[in-house]
Amino acid sequence: MNPFDYRRAASAEEAIRHIGTHGAKFLGGGTNLIDLMKLDVEQPAMLVDITKLDLAKVVPTTNGGLMIGALVRNSDLANHPQVVERYPLLSQALLSGASPQLRNMATTGGNLLQRTRCYYFNDTAFPACNKRVPGSGCAAIQGFNRIHAILGQSDHGPTSGESCIATNPSDMNVALAALGATVHIQNSKGKHSMPISAFHRLPGSTPQLDTNLQPDELIVAVELSAPLFAKNSSYLKVRDRQSYAFALVSVAAGLEMDGDTIKSAGLALGGVAHKPWRSLEAEQSMAGATPSRQSFEKAADLVLFRAKGYEHNGFKIQLAKQSIVRALTLAARGTNAGVEA
Ligand code: SF4
Repeated sequence: MNPFDYRRAASAEEAIRHIGTHGAKFLGGGTNLIDLMKLDVEQPAMLVDITKLDLAKVVPTTNGGLMIGALVRNSDLANHPQVVERYPLLSQALLSGASPQLRNMATTGGNLLQRTRCYYFNDTAFPACNKRVPGSGCAAIQGFNRIHAILGQSDHGPTSGESCIATNPSDMNVALAALGATVHIQNSKGKHSMPISAFHRLPGSTPQLDTNLQPDELIVAVELSAPLFAKNSSYLKVRDRQSYAFALVSVAAGLEMDGDTIKSAGLALGGVAHKPWRSLEAEQSMAGATPSRQSFEKAADLVLFRAKGYEHNGFKIQLAKQSIVRALTLAARGTNAGVEA
């Protein structure tokens, strides 16, 4: 691990002042950043400790939603009565991630910024990784790519400096995408916000960038609008083992019902792309339909019709389709089930 400076910030303004220092990073729960520093994947010149900032509250908003501070721990958020009752999709997704010990440390803001678990990104013995060393190529395209993307990837060949087929590893982010959350951000000029759909990036020609958060910006909160899917939602996570593993495919599904008819739907996938993959087209296809295998298969086809697999992950396309149908079926039953397979 490289030597680094350490500062503890007493206010958001002070934290933002320090982060202007070249090579500084914010330290929240540290559950991803410290691991990556030990692996020499991340080498910040300074850590700005933000754990004393007043950002650990969950507060109802005037429009019936919820404002979640960036330092709210994943375990506190998953078990918060308002989240359990009104946003069970988010609670289930959080509880399916990591381990209890990690959830006790990991923060909402840090979870948004989780970096990929691509083997080649995490191992500096592999020289080719555009995300870790921009311009070096992508070892995963012709390597072992079981956990990699099938949607939205940037693939110009293994030697291209623009290729990346990594996935976003977070469960929380998938639920937030289906719920249409908003990310609130502070910088030296003030505050602004962006929908979560615009927060995470596809690799495009800059795979080293995971998000549209600027280097001198601090996430202060995540806002949920009034719940639509409290009665009918499901988070389905499919992984290689039942505990402490990242999703091969996950599905966050929410249905707003009007009697026997779907009024609106929220649908996002994890484990399949560089960002939580939300399909507005698939969501809109279900509006006005009766919950049925046919309408759910149509939605699944709309999500996956551009999917492309690789040597070791082609199975994900069919797995994702079946997982979508299953998650939507469970949501329609109103069981609000978090399911792991
Ligand atoms: Fe690096 Fe992305 Fe390729 Fe993985 S998929 S080796 S993170 S460039």
